[in-house]
Amino acid sequence: MQIIRTAHEMRAITRQIAAQTIGFVPTMGALHEGHLSLVRTAKEKCDTVIVSIFVNPTQFSPNEDFTRYPRTFDQDCELLKRANADFVFAPATEEMYPSGATTYVTVEGLSDRLDGKSRPGHFRGVTTIVSKLFHIVQPNIAFFGQKDAAQVAVIRKMVRDLNFPVEIVACPIVREKDGLAMSSRNVYLTPDERKSALALSRSLQKIETLFKNGNRNIEELISAGKQTLAEDSGVKLDYFSIVNPDTLEDIQNIDHPALVAVAAYVGKTRLIDNIVL
Ligand code: AMP
Repeated sequence: MQIIRTAHEMRAITRQIAAQTIGFVPTMGALHEGHLSLVRTAKEKCDTVIVSIFVNPTQFSPNEDFTRYPRTFDQDCELLKRANADFVFAPATEEMYPSGATTYVTVEGLSDRLDGKSRPGHFRGVTTIVSKLFHIVQPNIAFFGQKDAAQVAVIRKMVRDLNFPVEIVACPIVREKDGLAMSSRNVYLTPDERKSALALSRSLQKIETLFKNGNRNIEELISAGKQTLAEDSGVKLDYFSIVNPDTLEDIQNIDHPALVAVAAYVGKTRLIDNIVL
């Protein structure tokens, strides 16, 4: 604690505090290098970094993995300490959802595409909790992973539509050495499923190679991706789409950046991955 005796110094300190940039990284915990890369980027760009850990019940449907979602709070805090996070906000469920709460935030349209189509209500849960966290944390900049590309689009739209004074920064996907996108859900995979899971990144690489070789035919690109997935019998396709990264709508031509997004089940585990062409 500092004791200030002069007006000049007090004013200088107040200015300094007011000018500080607060960076925010919302997570559901079970942290891995993907999450930590967001924290490190936040640390580079902001004076103070706040990380939230909250497994948000409203973004899970009743048949999903809310109760068995990995919870590794002590280990998460160790990792965050090492990454120099300044604060961890880890509220109880009742803190975020007092009983009787019936107000939700919905981004119409976007919330029904890609993962929102496969997981009805998912993005309503995401935008509701992220709004609440933004109100509580009051960040200047919030950091999200490109891994959840549809989520980034939905959050950006929400921030724009509701005039949140928050800048959204999307950070690149962090992968295991063999290409698998890091995910808290990878711990569910058996060794065989872990091998099958590589089909997702492989299918995206296949599309990227075709694209680099000049193929601009959306149908051909998608069917090459689907075919690569189908080669592994342990993988069940959910969706394979090439869309506008902002609107998440299917595109006919690749004349702007295009988001190639895949979701598939490996055993009972639903995995997602994407690239931008
Ligand atoms: P989650 O804890 O799964 O809700 O993720 C919290 C944040 O970390 C989200 O913005 C995710 O997109 C991001 N994230 C998760 N996995 C990765 C990854 N492999 N690379 C980059 N960011 C990620």
